[in-house]
Amino acid sequence: MIPLTPHAIQDPDDALAPWRRAMRDAVRDPFELLRLVELPATTIGDAAAAREFPLLAPLGYIARMRRGDPNDPLLLQVLPQAAETAEVPGFITDPVGDLQALSAPGLLHKYHGRALIVATGACAVHCRYCFRRHFPYAESGASHGRLERLIEALRQHPEIDEIILSGGDPLMLDDEKLSAWVKALEELPQLRRLRLHSRMPVILPERVDEALLGWICSTRLQVVCVIHCNHANELDHDVGEALNRLRMAGVSLLNQSVLLRDINDTTETLASLSLRLFEFGVLPYYLHLLDPVAGAAHFNIPETHAREIMHNLRASLPGYLVPRLVREEAGKSGKTDIPPLDTGTRLQPESG
Ligand SMILES: *Cc1c(COP(=O)(O)O)cnc(C)c1O
Ligand code: SF4
Repeated sequence: MIPLTPHAIQDPDDALAPWRRAMRDAVRDPFELLRLVELPATTIGDAAAAREFPLLAPLGYIARMRRGDPNDPLLLQVLPQAAETAEVPGFITDPVGDLQALSAPGLLHKYHGRALIVATGACAVHCRYCFRRHFPYAESGASHGRLERLIEALRQHPEIDEIILSGGDPLMLDDEKLSAWVKALEELPQLRRLRLHSRMPVILPERVDEALLGWICSTRLQVVCVIHCNHANELDHDVGEALNRLRMAGVSLLNQSVLLRDINDTTETLASLSLRLFEFGVLPYYLHLLDPVAGAAHFNIPETHAREIMHNLRASLPGYLVPRLVREEAGKSGKTDIPPLDTGTRLQPESG
């Protein structure tokens, strides 16, 4: 990162961390986004989609989109589309059974040995396919006051040795708060690992600043960061630098992606993504089949096609660069692995 040169304070927001300022300046208006990527306003079909789940994208992310291309894989992840308002059978508001798995407010304990804290509902970007786009964060998220209850709940489970901070995006919280949480969690003797599920190193690389690295370096817990990147175009120089800073701080880096129609549903796109991730020191971890969340049906890929892509991916990459294709199913003891499929012939991408 380029160090900021000190300058006279004119705007009260000058005291904000650069990433906070980038969030303040993020684009929230679909027409503004289209103007920035040099597309006609008619590219957007229906404003109703944006009212229900508003557009949010920082300028640095938008800068990585191709100008004048309505099919840009980054644009498609954030631009509200008319298709979101269609009701599709099987696509529901809580597709992975989160609400039944809450063992304390904000604490999801589905799997043995690890528990997930829904730390905040805020994100640096609104991904149109998000499986928690309808999650009732206000009632079911972990707010500061509930931390004690949450720690109490964890004490009842000495087998839990890993805590996952998720959301939303946990790195939307202030470092002061995060560092206080981590200190409180460290008091639990059974805990060994702290996992961050965050899209921020990719969306807003300036988030990986001194303050963040400060508490990461000082915790006794091993820190794992699972980033969320779906396309190699998301990984530019600044993202590489942010990932490098995390790595230098001793963080293990993994990536999860969602398999998305017209965004990353080819062997070539996924192979480039894996290779680019590895250049930046990140190993592919999971490739998720889309969770059937209401509003996202138009991103869905037929399972057979997904399995065939996996077969081809395994044939073209070293094993350690092939993510595991998984689906999340309510009530299971872990993600469900989906085996690759050799159909012998290349399937044509299906439509509808
Ligand atoms: C996905 C998930 C985890 C993590 O699972 P891993 O297989 O360890 O990556 C933990 N808790 C919940 C509730 C999850 O949804
Ligand atoms: S960053 Fe993650 S939680 Fe936030 S909208 Fe995107 S997929 Fe959902």
